[in-house]
Amino acid sequence: MAYEREKAIAIEAAIAAAKLCQNVRADIPAAIEKSDKSPVTVADYGSQALVCRALAAAFPDDPVVGEEDAAMLRQADQGAMLNQVTDYVRALVPDATPEQVTTWIDRGNGEVAARYWTLDPIDGTKGFLRQDQYAIALALVENGDLKLGILGCPALQLTGMSEPGALFVAVRGEGTVMLPLAGGEPQPLRVASADDPSTLRFAESVESGHGNQSRQNAVAQAVGITADSVRVDSQAKYGIVAAGQAALYLRLPSPKSPDYREKIWDHAAGALVVEEAGGRVTDMHGQPLDFSLGAKLVNNQGIVASNGVIHEQVLAALREN
Ligand code: AMP
Ligand code: MG
Repeated sequence: MAYEREKAIAIEAAIAAAKLCQNVRADIPAAIEKSDKSPVTVADYGSQALVCRALAAAFPDDPVVGEEDAAMLRQADQGAMLNQVTDYVRALVPDATPEQVTTWIDRGNGEVAARYWTLDPIDGTKGFLRQDQYAIALALVENGDLKLGILGCPALQLTGMSEPGALFVAVRGEGTVMLPLAGGEPQPLRVASADDPSTLRFAESVESGHGNQSRQNAVAQAVGITADSVRVDSQAKYGIVAAGQAALYLRLPSPKSPDYREKIWDHAAGALVVEEAGGRVTDMHGQPLDFSLGAKLVNNQGIVASNGVIHEQVLAALREN
């Protein structure tokens, strides 16, 4: 078994981060706006602090390319927010100080290297704030290849689960399992095998500005998917495809931001979770996702994640549509 130590540390860190996020959410979180107008909460910062702390202790030489940094939190007028973040971190690391919290968060300022981790401490912050889906997404990349993908989805209840809370774990070459966060045996996952699209569903974002919903629906229809889309925030969409509960996740560039390039932390963990469950992930032109070029997938546009069986049909429909 490969990456055993990495896997154990990453799972433990993601479970701690999931607890922190659920604790924040129980208290009705407030958000502040970042310079790019996207929201950030105490949970984004707390989750990044916990995961980066764990990675720093176990793998001090590995850079972490994380979504957040502590620059805003260090500003004098954000002292109250930093204290709040520290309080939530202390529920899991009792002796944490505000200085340590900002240092841990800033460990996520690393750059893409031969070996690196990428972290989205809360993917789908808008879903988190709406009390919908969100994910803690952590992946290990070596020489541009995804090796380990951990996706914590504290609010996700797959069909067949008795309680919400799913942690997806994928190791390159070893498959994908789902660990129920409430406890229980790991369940090996397999994508939907059916090649009859009329029985299948597709997933897309809740946020219309993060995709092109009319084109996504047209492409799904073109390959024979007739059911309404499953609209879900965050990389939980990849988990749903890996579990065989949707055959396809489509993310096409929004007409409002046609030149948008996807961030590595929005896809690394999820893509491996789908691939190791037997599925296929490319961009909308059929190109493999290139995680070696920096924080953005600069050589890719859009995302197609499928059960594999329908992948070529989807790419053909995209060429025609
Ligand atoms: P989702 O929950 O699937 O809608 O994805 C959330 C992610 O969308 C966030 O983490 C952002 O990084 C990303 N995002 C922000 N703006 C855009 C955009 N214009 N197109 C695609 N993704 C975006
Ligand atoms: Mg994200």
